[in-house]
Amino acid sequence: MATRDDRPHVLVVEDEPNIASFARMYLEAAGFRVTLAARGDEGLEAAERERPALVVLDLMLPGLDGFEVTRRLRQGGSMPIIMLTARDDPVDKVVGLELGADDYMTKPFDPRELVARVRAVLRRAEAAQAPVDGAAAPVYELDRLRIEVGPREVYVDADQVALTPKEFDLLATLVENRGLVLTREQLLERVWGYTFLGDSRTIDVHVRQLRRKLGEACPVQTVWGTGYKVPARR
Ligand code: CA
Repeated sequence: MATRDDRPHVLVVEDEPNIASFARMYLEAAGFRVTLAARGDEGLEAAERERPALVVLDLMLPGLDGFEVTRRLRQGGSMPIIMLTARDDPVDKVVGLELGADDYMTKPFDPRELVARVRAVLRRAEAAQAPVDGAAAPVYELDRLRIEVGPREVYVDADQVALTPKEFDLLATLVENRGLVLTREQLLERVWGYTFLGDSRTIDVHVRQLRRKLGEACPVQTVWGTGYKVPARR
C-alpha cells in the first residue's frame, strides 16, 4: 500500500556525485525527501514537474548552467533556491544573488550547514506565504516609495518594482526599524534566519540591488563601519 510522503521535498542539482550523495544523505537524515539531478536541463525539468519545496543548485552544470536554471525558474514563480558555487569565485556569488537565488554556499561545505540553511530558507519562504490579515499588514510610504507588506509589492511613484523575496524582506526589515542602524549580522539573522558563517557581502549585494532598482527613491543609507539604516524622517 502506498503511503503519502509528507516530507518536504528538496531537489539537488549537482553533477559531482560525491557532493550530491553527501547532500542527499544529510538531508534525508534531517527528514527531507530528496531528488537528485546531475544536469541543469534535467534539474529544470524535475523542478517544473515536481515543484519541490526548495532547489539546491550547483552553478557549473552540464546541459544548462545554474544561472540559466535560476533565470527560468524565476520566470515561473518564487521557488526557493540555494546556489552552490566554487571557492575563489566571488563574482559568481554576486551574480547568483542578483539573479534571485535565496542563498549561496561555497564548496566544499559542511553538509550540516547545508541542512541548516535549507531549513532557514524554507522557514522564510513559509512565513512569506502565510496568509496575512489584510487590515493588519502595514503599508509604508516614504516620499516616492510605497511598500505594501501584505501583497509584498513595492512602488516608486505609480510604477511597481519587481524585487526578489530577499530584497523585499531586507527593505521591509529596514523600513520597519526606521531610525535604527541595523548591523549586517542583525540583517542576516532577521532576513536570512542565521548568523553563523554569515557573509556580510550578501547584505551589501542586496543593498546594491535595491539601490539600482529603486534609484533615488531607495531610502537605505550606509552607516560606515556599522551597517545600514532607513532614516526616521526624510
Ligand atoms: Ca559542477
